[in-house]
Amino acid sequence: MAVRQTGFVLLSSGSVQEAHDFAAISQAATLKARVPFLHFFDGFRTSHEVAKIFELTDEELRSLIDDELIREHRARALSPDHPVIRGTAQNPDVYFQGRETVNPFYEATPAIVQAAMDKFAKITERSYHLFDYAGHPQAERVVVLMGSGGETAEATVKYLAEKGEKVGALRVRLYRPFSIEHFIKALPKTVKSIVVLDRTKEPGSSGEPLYLDIVNALAESSHSNIKVIGGRYGLSSKEFTPAMVKAALDELKKSDPKNHFTVGINDDVSHTSLDVDSSFSIESEETVRCMFFGLGSDGTVGANKNSIKIIGEETDNFAQGYFVYDSKKAGTVTTSHLRFGSKPIQAPYLIEVNQANFVACHQSVFLEKFDMLKYAKPGGVFLLNSMYGMDEVWDQLPIEVQKELVAKKLKFYVINGYDVAEKTGMGNRVNTIMQTAFFAISGILPREDAITQIKHAIEKTYGKRGEAVVKKNFDAVDQTLENLHEVKVPAKATSKSTRRPIVPNEAPEFVKNVLAPMLAFDGNDVPVSAMPVDGTFPTGTTQWEKRNLALEIPVWVPDLCIQCGKCIMVCPHAVIRQKIFDDKLLSGAPETFKHMPSKYKEFSKGMTYSIQVAPEDCTGCELCVEACPAKDKTQAGRKALNMEPQPALRASESKNWDFFMKIPDLDRKLINPSTIKNSQLLRPLFEFSGACSGCGETPYVKLVSQLFGDRAIVANATGCSSIYGGNLPTTPWAKNSFGRGPAWSNSLFEDNAEFGLGMRLTLDKQNEYAHELATALSKELGQELVDAIVHADQSNEAGIDEQRSRVAELKKKLANSKDSRAKDLISIADSLVKKSVWIMGGDGWAYDIGYGGLDHVLASGRNVNVLVLDTEVYSNTGGQASKSTPRGA
Ligand code: SF4
Ligand code: SF4
Ligand code: MG
Repeated sequence: MAVRQTGFVLLSSGSVQEAHDFAAISQAATLKARVPFLHFFDGFRTSHEVAKIFELTDEELRSLIDDELIREHRARALSPDHPVIRGTAQNPDVYFQGRETVNPFYEATPAIVQAAMDKFAKITERSYHLFDYAGHPQAERVVVLMGSGGETAEATVKYLAEKGEKVGALRVRLYRPFSIEHFIKALPKTVKSIVVLDRTKEPGSSGEPLYLDIVNALAESSHSNIKVIGGRYGLSSKEFTPAMVKAALDELKKSDPKNHFTVGINDDVSHTSLDVDSSFSIESEETVRCMFFGLGSDGTVGANKNSIKIIGEETDNFAQGYFVYDSKKAGTVTTSHLRFGSKPIQAPYLIEVNQANFVACHQSVFLEKFDMLKYAKPGGVFLLNSMYGMDEVWDQLPIEVQKELVAKKLKFYVINGYDVAEKTGMGNRVNTIMQTAFFAISGILPREDAITQIKHAIEKTYGKRGEAVVKKNFDAVDQTLENLHEVKVPAKATSKSTRRPIVPNEAPEFVKNVLAPMLAFDGNDVPVSAMPVDGTFPTGTTQWEKRNLALEIPVWVPDLCIQCGKCIMVCPHAVIRQKIFDDKLLSGAPETFKHMPSKYKEFSKGMTYSIQVAPEDCTGCELCVEACPAKDKTQAGRKALNMEPQPALRASESKNWDFFMKIPDLDRKLINPSTIKNSQLLRPLFEFSGACSGCGETPYVKLVSQLFGDRAIVANATGCSSIYGGNLPTTPWAKNSFGRGPAWSNSLFEDNAEFGLGMRLTLDKQNEYAHELATALSKELGQELVDAIVHADQSNEAGIDEQRSRVAELKKKLANSKDSRAKDLISIADSLVKKSVWIMGGDGWAYDIGYGGLDHVLASGRNVNVLVLDTEVYSNTGGQASKSTPRGA
């Protein structure tokens, strides 16, 4: 939509097959039309879908392209052998006329595109038009749209038309130039009303772009008798389902239909949304639908892509796969949606509630968190990876899961994939095992064939890594079958455990009402009224998430510990912490709470030292154990920290953690942070981030938050640090007990240095102005206070703390003043306390740094701090860093 005014031809494809086909059609047509083409399709829904398609051969491609046109194109190229000049600066005298020279080319383009499509159809038997109509031949109500939504709309109107509804769908292929003539020709003569769906929002416009085109087309072609309404759907690749298509078409039946509506959300603010009957589905019995719930980076998605390949290539079935991942990449849930069937699959939307023939849960902890069996079709199959065997597993399930298994009469299979993985040397990678189990149960391929194919795929994927890796995977496949069992589902649910609330009851209201549904994968149900109007969210919300990712967590052995603080320093997730506190505070400690006398020189008398792990936030990366230098001389391999299974420790350690967190932090003023052990007494204000387990970047981010967090503003560059730092639902930047903590905002990488500079300039200016105002108001404030504020030494924590007290006093003194200067001063008084501006980023930003704005920002002489994450990239750019530093920061 943003390139409409550039003059590019815009050609829209709606499926993986079309994306392939239209690439060729665009190329053929642009050579003839001499106008640049932009062939587009839906990001994610189409770009990330895996599907079985018909591929063009090289011969077919060649026969599509006219060689003579290529030669003409080459002849127009720049060459010193026949030089010309392009891109001249033009002035008002001729620019306008020059623009108008292009009209004949745009006028000719629709016919050229159609000709290319016709030629394509002759070669491939796949036929396309500038506007493709589907549905009832005498349709009265028609939906117009483009992109992948067109696939859904087409399938839906065919279904409805078969049931006698006079409805149709018109898919726009050639969006620019918009051919009114072709549009009108494609519409059935019987049409009485049209609903146009736009997958975009242009705030303030009189209608969304495609809607305006259609209104205009009807007006210019004297078809104004046809009623038109428009609506928005599917922003940011939000789901667009047959039920939503039906809702849009049903709206046309009303005498007073909504215009400029939305569909697919609950807009309880402007009341634009249509009601959708979510039970409406057009899924066919012949298609097999499978859903897999895995953990980011556990290999589930890779294995599923593989399964599609196997089924697509080894059977006559059509296959489709779509993978929903959190942008946190690792450690969160990935959901794979797979469809297989003998007919082409025209369903670019997720598998719906009650529709999955097969549901697999690759990590049993998910069962405690959210309802995945709601997707299962009655009589379907459920496969669970569990530490418990076929005889014990039933009793371990939450009652809600048991109830659904019983009510839906699901077949239930269990495998201890963790055990098979460990025994076959696969560590904790259960992907091959679960894939094998899927094929063994689903019967999509004969078992033996499937196994041969999986092994073949293993050789292809892991062959490069050597025979041993391949063999491990082979063993895993073989052992899977021996360890896969069907569990008899009893007639009644009997479990004593229930699914846990998504966030604890003590969580703030916003977390409970908005973030919790997102965590439960019910974010689509969050109404408009619950969303912040300006994108402002509270910080410090990861503490409520409780991901429970780690199978094992570190356990502290005080007798061995030398209190070096290294484990605390290295933890990427701020999960393991140390505190020193008055012995008296130990009263009321839980029985299993561990502590020892403090060995710190400056905090020894009457002081206790404790290390505590947040058991439900640990990712099990083992870095803390790795870093611990304190070894047990009596027992090889034992250290002051050792990994032990989490489930048994979860309850007691959670209690200990709560107790630990209630112990006050040491006064910052008393801590000289210039050593590792001392710096790690400072409270991290960046905690439980969504970074990958063992991330090499976040320990540095955390350290910054410890040292400067209570007075830091972060200008973050898009990349990993925006994902682990600011990705909804929950965010890791946190507050201290005074309510202070880093404030954070994000900018695209190339602008980021200037973005931070702007923050600095603002603070500097405000500080300067506050000095002026304070001086001007010295009568009210008292000369002594003004002098102290203006000349404050804020070079250490004590100085900063004193300044904070002065500012508080200043605010108090001016609180009741009617003087507008006093009001001004109060509004900017916080800038009198030293602030720390951080320009932070990695990845693309680091790449950009050598060329981008950082040089200018540094040259400004302003006081900004720069944290470059992932310096491997940085040093490879030929930018300012000449020496390669370890991956991290
Ligand atoms: Fe932190 Fe990793 Fe240790 Fe857990 S295992 S406490 S996440 S360093
Ligand atoms: Fe104690 Fe080991 Fe942590 Fe050092 S790294 S503080 S010795 S547990
Ligand atoms: Mg990175």
